[in-house]
Amino acid sequence: MQGAMLYGTGDVRLEERPDPTILEPTDAILRISAACVCGSDLWPYRGIDPVTQPTPMGHEYVGIVEEVGSAVRHIQPGQFVVGSFWASDNTCPICQAGYQSRCVDARPMGAEGSQAQLLRVPLADGTLVATPELPSDELIPSLLSASDVLGTGWFGAAAAEAGPGKTVAVVGDGAVGLCAVLAARQMGAERIIAMSRHGDRQTLALEFGATDIVTERGEEGVAKIKELTDGLGAHSVVEAVGTQESMMQAIQSTRAGGHVGFVGVFHGMQLSAMDLFWATVHLHGGPAPVRQYLPGLIDLIWNRKINPGKVFDLTLPLEQVAEGYRAMDERRAIKALLLP
Ligand SMILES: [Zn+2]
Repeated sequence: MQGAMLYGTGDVRLEERPDPTILEPTDAILRISAACVCGSDLWPYRGIDPVTQPTPMGHEYVGIVEEVGSAVRHIQPGQFVVGSFWASDNTCPICQAGYQSRCVDARPMGAEGSQAQLLRVPLADGTLVATPELPSDELIPSLLSASDVLGTGWFGAAAAEAGPGKTVAVVGDGAVGLCAVLAARQMGAERIIAMSRHGDRQTLALEFGATDIVTERGEEGVAKIKELTDGLGAHSVVEAVGTQESMMQAIQSTRAGGHVGFVGVFHGMQLSAMDLFWATVHLHGGPAPVRQYLPGLIDLIWNRKINPGKVFDLTLPLEQVAEGYRAMDERRAIKALLLP
């Protein structure tokens, strides 16, 4: 099969790789219908996370089940499925509590590499959710978004306790931040402030349900949020970037007693204990338990209540995977969808 491999900084290639096979009886093999490039794929692509050997890339996927192992009970060949970027058994106490990304047997899908024609999914019954029938092509981008960015934005909004009567601020205007805006809208938030300085992303944020746009960053951004909230700060703030500045902006934009949901993968961040002490806010975050939300998200997408697939503003054949990385690296695209 053809699959994407990262060789080093800025060097991603599509190459012939061995077809994946059933290694454990709980595995499934998918024929990928669509995959995509994640903002987190850019960390190794930019050399910020070192690449020591050629590495399969991609952890977001939708596809059709080709084959299942002997212990798979519910997932069947021929089904169209959406899966989380963490494989999980969905039965252990951590999964049962809704934290499947930290399953006692969690497996990172990035190790398998979904930017490819075929994909091995461990723990298939726990990880995959089938759609009611084969989807029409126009639903595929939205279903793909549920695999990571929508589920992650949703967790961010849930962790920030977005809900009726709440003012929610979202730090970060990448695909996850935009999906957090959409999630906050679905959760009934009264006011949703998107922090963005890019015109195309502001437009999508407004379409997804933002009521206000703040272009300022850092301390100016915090001051602007305070100004919009009677000097108090937002009830709920989603951090969807993962830098020192964005996390401090999120914490300081939150009113005392409010909630920060943080879903950006941190790089080189240090929090001051006294800043945390005086912030007097709830902090909740981590790798999103996307599997918890998949059935509900698939239902909303299937019934055309939400259209998160709009975050894909570039669609390329898998052969042009390198261009997908370049376009996102250079911020020419919010998110690139790849068709094998
Ligand atoms: Zn588990």
